[in-house]
Amino acid sequence: MLNGARGRMGRAIASIAEEKDCQIVAGIDLGDDPAAVIDECDVVIDFSLQEATLPVARLTAERGKPIVIGTTGQSVEDRDAITALSSLIPMVWAGNFSTGVNLLFYLTQKAAEVLDAESDFDPEVIEMHHRHKKDAPSGTAERLLEILKESRSLGDADVAHGRQGITGERPAAQIGSHSLRGGDVVGDHLVMFAGSGERLELTHRATDRVIFASGALRAAKWAVTQPAGLYSMQDVLGLTA
Ligand code: NAD
Repeated sequence: MLNGARGRMGRAIASIAEEKDCQIVAGIDLGDDPAAVIDECDVVIDFSLQEATLPVARLTAERGKPIVIGTTGQSVEDRDAITALSSLIPMVWAGNFSTGVNLLFYLTQKAAEVLDAESDFDPEVIEMHHRHKKDAPSGTAERLLEILKESRSLGDADVAHGRQGITGERPAAQIGSHSLRGGDVVGDHLVMFAGSGERLELTHRATDRVIFASGALRAAKWAVTQPAGLYSMQDVLGLTA
């Protein structure tokens, strides 16, 4: 079952499902009743709206189906409630289903281990997406920020989301986060470690959202073989830091 079937991602998934040996038995969108069709499917894929994920995840757990979640921007309360359901069903939740981005997560982790808080490098995350995107920073940028925060033992308050006015000097214990919006950009992410005399930049550019669709279908096929638990796309790809 595909939740958000009429959206950009929903249509991208439906367009390649057959070539990936998958069948969309039910395409659900605003106004449809997922409870009436969920029993016909093996797995649920959700690419909808932030408020729509928790209700569909609850229904999915109730009916004992695995779920693949691609929707981003949920509140902290919703995220906690959704992840709690993974004790009942296999749940793959990824802010980004592309193979390249998951490699970017892995490389960022490795770079952050070397360029740690003791080093002279300042980490900043910059992302750009199309003008229709409703949340910021992107789920992918959120994950990159998580990796950097964990590696430097920093918290949410240490992330500077854009800067304006007389900000003073950049504290060493800070991570910058910048969201650019415009045009039809599918998704660009840059992790920068800016040092004195050198700069490391890890960049991923998505040019076609079919990469997310393909990753989500791969995750769906993998999820049906797994026991209950919360998984990432790195688990699906066997990429562990
Ligand atoms: P979109 O706005 O084009 O499509 C969202 C669809 O969800 C719309 O058709 C809308 O009508 C539908 N919807 C809204 N409320 C609903 C409800 N209650 N029940 C069912 N359907 C509902 O957006 P999009 O570009 O397809 O992106 C969808 C989500 O996926 C966003 O949160 C986006 O950030 C995320 N996304 C994730 C990845 C990833 O790899 N994880 C990649 C791209 C987009």
